[in-house]
Amino acid sequence: MSTYFMEATYLVASILFVFALKGMSHPDTARRGMFLAEGGMFAAIVGTLVGTHIVSWGWIIAGLALGSIIGAWMAVSVPMTAMPQRTALSHAFGALAAALVGVGEFAVHASEMPGITRGALGFEVMLGALTTTGSLIAAGKLQGIIHGKPIQFKGQNAVNLIVFLSMASCFVVFWTHPQTTAVFYTMLGVAFLFGVMLVIPIGSADMPVVMSLLNSYAGLAAAATGFVLGNNVLIIAGTLDGFSGFILSVLMCKAMNRSITNVLFGGFGAVVAESTSNIGGEMREINLEDAAMQLAFANRVIFVPGYGLATAQAQHAVRELAELLEDRGVTVKYAIHPVAGRMPGHMNVLLAEANVPYSSLYEMEQINPEFPSTDVAVVIGANDVVNPDARDNPKSLIAGMPILEVDRAKSVIVLKRGQGRGFSGLENPLFFKSCTSMLYGDAKSSLTHLVQAVQHV
Ligand code: NAP
Repeated sequence: MSTYFMEATYLVASILFVFALKGMSHPDTARRGMFLAEGGMFAAIVGTLVGTHIVSWGWIIAGLALGSIIGAWMAVSVPMTAMPQRTALSHAFGALAAALVGVGEFAVHASEMPGITRGALGFEVMLGALTTTGSLIAAGKLQGIIHGKPIQFKGQNAVNLIVFLSMASCFVVFWTHPQTTAVFYTMLGVAFLFGVMLVIPIGSADMPVVMSLLNSYAGLAAAATGFVLGNNVLIIAGTLDGFSGFILSVLMCKAMNRSITNVLFGGFGAVVAESTSNIGGEMREINLEDAAMQLAFANRVIFVPGYGLATAQAQHAVRELAELLEDRGVTVKYAIHPVAGRMPGHMNVLLAEANVPYSSLYEMEQINPEFPSTDVAVVIGANDVVNPDARDNPKSLIAGMPILEVDRAKSVIVLKRGQGRGFSGLENPLFFKSCTSMLYGDAKSSLTHLVQAVQHV
């Protein structure tokens, strides 16, 4: 009876996971998607607890309590800008769990396992281990604990290939000779090392792509765990996770006009500047009063948020300014670049938090034709995603990356703190164009002051 109950909850959980993914594919339904995923996970846990033989309730309750405390602490204390490294840590722990389950299964059952299950076990341990260390390095880089730029040395790709082949050889030997304990643990150790080698040569701007790849590996490790344990919901959830992570990586690469191989082996960010087009002209500063005047008397204004909006937490201030302008009859829109910020949907999440109506947000393809008829484009802490070099300079490192074409607006006001570059490390010719003026300062404080200044126009 309890087995039927377990299988029924697994079926419900799997359906909920599929609908959750569907919900998360659109900002309007993303919250509902998250709740569905939580419901699915709850059903899967209840089903497992009811339907399987529990060796020790004590350990399970202790794990649940500890995990819930750490999770609740992370939810309230990790700021939105640190979300990518928090996600990397989650991947590391998920993958470590998969690897440890694999080690446990090896210790208890390896000799009696059929070949196919042993293959899945090797796969699970390998992917789990390399994802653990890879994700920890990614989290360290994103948090600034480890140097964010690519760490490269001569012959790196050859060394990585040797490490990979050693790991793969151990896997084959383990698969064909299950009793070889030393080979199994060597494979585990080499996989931990390979995770480090895989991620250190990757620049921090590419880290979100790497993270979604690692997410994909963690999902596949979980699916392999499902095969080893004969657990259907793990197979389904792991496969969904694995493939959605992979599709996300591909979409991000597309939005940056990079290939996955270029991200993994290109060392993006190690060489910069030489490829920036010859920049003539000077940056022109604008004061608050003049900027407020331009905005107050404009017909059409487009806000272009970027990573600086997130660091400044300026989402509420921009909504206030937009509402004020709308009250004066100005048409206000927001232009959202798919890779603005540091994670997919970063700008959507921030603006939704500030109750900016979803109908005011426009994707790149929708909004680009509107810039020429726009009086003022206000760039708020965005840099790479509005860099015209990507469109105009074939030698640029970001050549071909689709951009928001703000330089085609009649006037551009850029809100940033100083001369800081974007995450690619490239100079931005937009700031030197005659249509552009710079309003220096923290984005939140500039927007708050703009609100006051517009009120006095
Ligand atoms: P960006 O190119 O990183 O530029 C951010 C700009 O914000 C900087 O130039 C900085 O200049 C300014 N800034 C920082 N803090 C600020 C503050 N408190 N107030 C005002 N300005 C501030 O940002 P982006 O245009 O959003 O581009 C995102 C980058 O990340 C792209 O290169 C993209 O390829 C990469 N990336 C994103 C994703 C993703 O999923 N979103 C994935 C992979 C890669 P100052 O220091 O002068 O203030």
